[in-house]
Amino acid sequence: MKKLIDKLYKENYLTGNELITLINNMNEDLKAYLKRKAQETSIKVYGNRVFMRGLIEFTNYCKRNCRYCGIRAGNKKADRYRLSLEDILDCCKVGNKLGYRTFVLQGGEDEYYDDERITQIVKSIKNNYPESAVTLSIGEKSYESYEKYYKAGADRYLLRHETANKDLYEKLHPKASFENRIQCLYNLKEIGYQVGAGFMVGLPGQTNEDFVKDLMFLKKLSPHMVGIGPFIPHKDTPLCMEKRGTVETTTVMLSIIRLLLPKVLLPATTALGTISPFGREEGLIAGANVVMPNLSPTNVRKKYSLYNGKICTGDEAAECRNCIEERITRAGFSLDMSRGDNVDWTRK
Ligand code: SAM
Repeated sequence: MKKLIDKLYKENYLTGNELITLINNMNEDLKAYLKRKAQETSIKVYGNRVFMRGLIEFTNYCKRNCRYCGIRAGNKKADRYRLSLEDILDCCKVGNKLGYRTFVLQGGEDEYYDDERITQIVKSIKNNYPESAVTLSIGEKSYESYEKYYKAGADRYLLRHETANKDLYEKLHPKASFENRIQCLYNLKEIGYQVGAGFMVGLPGQTNEDFVKDLMFLKKLSPHMVGIGPFIPHKDTPLCMEKRGTVETTTVMLSIIRLLLPKVLLPATTALGTISPFGREEGLIAGANVVMPNLSPTNVRKKYSLYNGKICTGDEAAECRNCIEERITRAGFSLDMSRGDNVDWTRK
């Protein structure tokens, strides 16, 4: 098995059969070796730097009904909110003072924010903070809409594919098309964005074969960023009684992704920090190199409730910034507040 890890380290590639063999035979020794190789790779490309992104969760309205998600349209208990342009700019102002040079605007698929509103938000942030990167994470849109946002100045787009198993995807996303989600990712790449795909770990019914599909899809798409995190049930969703994903499997996936895509920007996610007190640190040790502390106003934090027990919902932006810096340095990494673009990307 170590030979497979060595091959993955050297060639950044394994066949589907090799990946499934490796995942099926994972044990504590192999995990430790895999993580060492992944961290070595991350350090070779980006040094021991961890890039910070300021996350602004600007709407929890959503027209979709993803069965796992706490802000799904069908959750009548969700207390809905929207941030105004001024609210968003206030978050950026606080973030800018704290040193952030990337703002990630994330929200449900909320038609209130039509193309005009989104381009206005992007342009306003870029006018005020021209040296900062803007990342959008607002779901599936048409090619034309993505193009408008890019022309307005958006630099990056996060759209997890969620799972590369079409059947599982369709079970989890009523009335949604797997093909369209995948097409959106290719469209975003073609337009010129730095693109982030990714999946959840531990979804009900997900198998090791599904992970292989996810990994092979990521290798083929070759995104600039990959966001993965454990599935965590939310009490007011149809999956409320399901088991959550684990730190162990998530960190193994992070390490394999680092080795498949050495230059990828890979967050240690809030969901990973939610299922274990040192989950994010474990993610960094496994090869992740990004963290995304929250810049949303504290009065809406609890309302952006995707899953049970989400951490950091009571902390001010400055507290999050300081807490994460302490954690990063204690884990042996150094904080990097620059834009932190993927080393292969330049704007078209
Ligand atoms: N609407 C946008 C989209 O579809 O990409 C972005 C917002 S969506 C809430 C952000 C991410 O949250 C999803 O891509 C999903 O992977 C994650 N998420 C939602 N519910 C979750 C849960 N119960 N456990 C873990 N992650 C979850």
